[in-house]
Amino acid sequence: MEINNIWDNFLNKVKNNLAPMLFEAWFAETKLIALNDNKATVLVPMIIHKKHLKDNYDTLIETIFNEVTGSNFIFEYFTEEEIEKIKDENNFISENKNTELFKSNLNKNYLFENFVVGDSNKFAKTTAIAVAEKPGITYNPLFIYSNSGLGKTHLMHAIGNYIVQNSNKKVLYVTSEQFVNDFIELYRKNKNENNFNEVEKFKRKYRDIDVLMIDDIQYLEIANKTQQEFFNTFNELHTNNKQIIISSDRSPDDLKQLEDRLRTRFTWGLMVDIMPPDFELRLSIISKKIEGHGLNNTFPQEVKEYIASNCIGDIRKLEGAITRVVAYATMMSGSDITLNLAIEALKDYFGNCFNTKNNIEQVQHLVANSYNITIDDLKGKRRIISVAVPRQIAMYISRTVYNEPLAKIGLLFGGRDHTTVIHSVEKIKKELINNINLEKEINKIINNLK
Ligand code: ADP
Ligand code: MG
Repeated sequence: MEINNIWDNFLNKVKNNLAPMLFEAWFAETKLIALNDNKATVLVPMIIHKKHLKDNYDTLIETIFNEVTGSNFIFEYFTEEEIEKIKDENNFISENKNTELFKSNLNKNYLFENFVVGDSNKFAKTTAIAVAEKPGITYNPLFIYSNSGLGKTHLMHAIGNYIVQNSNKKVLYVTSEQFVNDFIELYRKNKNENNFNEVEKFKRKYRDIDVLMIDDIQYLEIANKTQQEFFNTFNELHTNNKQIIISSDRSPDDLKQLEDRLRTRFTWGLMVDIMPPDFELRLSIISKKIEGHGLNNTFPQEVKEYIASNCIGDIRKLEGAITRVVAYATMMSGSDITLNLAIEALKDYFGNCFNTKNNIEQVQHLVANSYNITIDDLKGKRRIISVAVPRQIAMYISRTVYNEPLAKIGLLFGGRDHTTVIHSVEKIKKELINNINLEKEINKIINNLK
């Protein structure tokens, strides 16, 4: 029988046993809203009904209800308001339960699909995909490092999202700061009371998972006690073939404050670095971002190139430049985006773009500007003096001012051999002995370096 029918039957019988006035006052507006196990939940119009029904009609209600249903129920009365409140609380509890049960912290916007590749990040993306396809099997741990703003966090989330979409594995992404905070919190609570539950909770969060990603591990350097805990966590996960993915602004070798045993473990799997994007990649990232904003037709190629050639070494800054130009155009009551507008919008901005360690590109940029040639000229093969000499100067500065490795200089100058770099540097050194003008020119460039 449906509960509405049950209640109608019940009310009819009550009606026969009560004066009409009493029935109207206490029963007419009641409603049975749930019937489970041995509990009957009844909705009443006002709060006074609750007490009155209980105090005066308890036996009558139970007897008649038993006649209708054939079994005994305990009655509970609620007003509309109370029911709403319980509903809210229940929702609240179940939402909270879910988040407490499992929260992977993944950002759904960072995907492989929107991670643009070029020479500088191709290897990192490929290995990331390999790990995403077979977590815990191929490369464990995966250690990704680079300067800031080059896509480490993006790649980690992309791996996580892929795994979550294609399996039922549990993924947890945290920054190392979050790990440290969780650990400190646990430590603090444990000092006061021996809180077994908290320890269990911490362990479950970090060990009862299939993939653990810790972003910016360098912040663990300053937290000695936490390193110990991380070591334990790492070992347990690794032993159980759970995937660990770590990112850092430096290679494990350069995380000098980290315990040796941790650094060693980081090198067990695969280490990949992401280099600063070259001009081409910067340009394709800009195009992709613009596409994403639906601004394809309003963004002239020369503006893209202007941003790509001035904003080097940090993709976050590239995004910032686009936002600025768009905001500026909007501010100028929606005028077209032109090169002049972009120059105006970004006039104080590009200084920001240099604050990475991408020394060689910075040198190339300044040298190209002072000799009125392009960065492509510097990387290219042309041997005419107006290009070849600035190229040698740029290599010379990269080597003598920043002590950049010969191989890296060669690579960033169009893939030249390191002997070519040595040759160029020596040539400029020799020339400088007698050429005061050249010395002045070079010093001017060096002074402009940050
Ligand atoms: P990191 O963690 O190395 O500091 P992020 O992953 O936070 O860098 O990247 C900074 C910004 O640049 C993010 O908005 C990210 O989406 C974007 N980004 C980085 N690399 C790429 C790429 N190859 N393609 C598209 N966007 C990228
Ligand atoms: Mg990051």
